[in-house]
Amino acid sequence: SIVEVLDKPEDLVTRAPIVTVMGHVDHGKTSLLDYIRKENVIAGESGGITQHIGAYGVELENGQKISFLDTPGHEAFTAMRARGAQVTDIAIIVAAADDDIMPQTKEAIAHAQAAGVPIVFAINKIDKPTANPEKIKEGLAQMNLLVEDWGGKIQSHDISAKQGTGVKELLEKILLEAEILELKANPNKPAVGTVVEAYLDKGRGYVSTILVQAGTLRIGDYVLAGKNSGKIKAMQDERGREVLEAGPSTPVSILGLDGATQAGDKFSVFADEREAKQIATKRMQLQREQDVRTTKT
Ligand code: GDP
Repeated sequence: SIVEVLDKPEDLVTRAPIVTVMGHVDHGKTSLLDYIRKENVIAGESGGITQHIGAYGVELENGQKISFLDTPGHEAFTAMRARGAQVTDIAIIVAAADDDIMPQTKEAIAHAQAAGVPIVFAINKIDKPTANPEKIKEGLAQMNLLVEDWGGKIQSHDISAKQGTGVKELLEKILLEAEILELKANPNKPAVGTVVEAYLDKGRGYVSTILVQAGTLRIGDYVLAGKNSGKIKAMQDERGREVLEAGPSTPVSILGLDGATQAGDKFSVFADEREAKQIATKRMQLQREQDVRTTKT
């Protein structure tokens, strides 16, 4: 059976917020994620994050951490939600200051609101001569979304993802939001979490990037993820370094599952390998039966 442990309040430890970046096409989601990925250099280490594993963690100067889902756009957010997975704690919605509030801006807002996820607005491209951040804030006000400098409670920050202006302050606002949410998890139990990305690596086999949401995942753990199972053989962080364990809010890519998982698959650690395998096999059978039925009708 799943190793389930009830958390006592004293077991709960503050965990890093998990952030998704959404917004209208070309408003700068990728640029923002790239800037944060490249600029963040953990104290005492050289080089930014070079690997793309679907999620990455950054550490700020004060030692506080933030984890980002590295798939910009709301497709990833909604696909995960459609599969019952909610991993995002805070949504950054990027809105270009040289444009209007666009249809996908509104859609992103609606997605975050439907999921009950707080929004921090990143009003981008302020380096452009045509930028008018106040127009965006006014547009938001017309949608009943009052940002702080318009007397409301919603956080926003003017940034240039291209030049990096304001990004540090934006991240500080994310941390403030996280503090309000009081995000906690018990690291001292078998891990549970969600798959964010999976692929077949020619040399290494099936690789899944997972976000540990509670507990701690270790090499040698027996894991069930969606219709796949296996024993964790190796784990890597977003810098390509081997890690032996991963705690709450940590993204890692793992080796050892017997197939390609899907974004949104939940994973959990099992006490024994056989049981994890049995459930995976059962799920696979059910899927096949369903596939046969849908092709018949
Ligand atoms: P996405 O579709 O939301 O991921 O947008 P991208 O990050 O791909 O950006 C779309 C375009 O806007 C690219 O040409 C970027 O170089 C440009 N861009 C993004 N952020 C900024 C910014 O802060 N200032 C300026 N001037 N251009 C930007």
